[in-house]
Amino acid sequence: MDDLKYGVRDKRGDWKPNGRIEGAPLWNWPPRLPKILAWLPGYIWPWNAFHMATALLYWFYVVPSVETMKTISWGWALWLYAVNAAAILVFYGIFELRYYVKRAQATRFKYNHKFPADAPSDVFWFQSQNLDNFLRSFFITIPLWTVVEVIFLWCFANGRVPWVGWQDHPVYLAALVLIAPAIHEVHFFFIHRLIHWGPLYRWIHSVHHNSINPSPWSSLSMHPVEGFLYHAVAFWHLIIPSNPIVALFQLHVAGFGAVNGHLGFDKLEVTEDTAVNSHAYTHYLHHKYFEVNYGGDGLIPLDRWFGTWHDGTREGEAMMDARFQKKKERMNARA
Ligand SMILES: [Zn+2]
Ligand SMILES: [Zn+2]
Repeated sequence: MDDLKYGVRDKRGDWKPNGRIEGAPLWNWPPRLPKILAWLPGYIWPWNAFHMATALLYWFYVVPSVETMKTISWGWALWLYAVNAAAILVFYGIFELRYYVKRAQATRFKYNHKFPADAPSDVFWFQSQNLDNFLRSFFITIPLWTVVEVIFLWCFANGRVPWVGWQDHPVYLAALVLIAPAIHEVHFFFIHRLIHWGPLYRWIHSVHHNSINPSPWSSLSMHPVEGFLYHAVAFWHLIIPSNPIVALFQLHVAGFGAVNGHLGFDKLEVTEDTAVNSHAYTHYLHHKYFEVNYGGDGLIPLDRWFGTWHDGTREGEAMMDARFQKKKERMNARA
């Protein structure tokens, strides 16, 4: 595909999309139903449908019986870890292999023209972004994802929290599934905003930000505190009356869905003239500029409300620069 029909490439070779990042049309006033209906399929397909599919596969084929889950044991915890790790290896690995190892699409639709493998850096373990990110994901973050999973499954199995049945409340649970990505957005925005506070940033979140040019393995490359807090989004289903499948879906939106922001490409070419939108640009801008776009891609427009939204346009850039300038002046005045 010709990426210059969809965006522009600068002198360095970095590509950026035309137009502005549009948040969900749910917040426009007055609400426009046709616009919302046009947006809905992209909300569900393909990413959220995929997360629901994996949640169901887990529930029917991976998660042990309720009887087993009444007692926490290494056996089923390690089993869940093994499946989580294998699933991420395959799912993230497909993107890594096709777009970063084989470079099937070269730098078409790629925001940063460089590939992490070509840029060794001292900030990473073994000076390799790929190896560093990979090890942190599999030996720190995915174990913590599994800890969260074991805890909520144990709570459901032991009747510590309400277990809403699909037969009894199908509409309520379907609605909960539909708003789960919004729960993710709010949870992620606030923990993310918190760990951008100076001392916490240096202690915790700088690990994730070492990857200025993120690639699939960067997605779950986190400090343990962040790795736990990030996946703890599933604990909302211990507070809201829910069902373990919905909690699993919530967990998968976090764990599997993290790759979206870190794909590095705006469109993933599938055939000669079809491509899937990655929705990666919003979070790519966060990795590039740090103090913009703390949330996702505007399902709940928290960044807009808090004045930290960068919509990918020149005006978005100017607003960010003005904010950074003000911050600098404030800091100079204090010094
Ligand atoms: Zn990130
Ligand atoms: Zn951040």
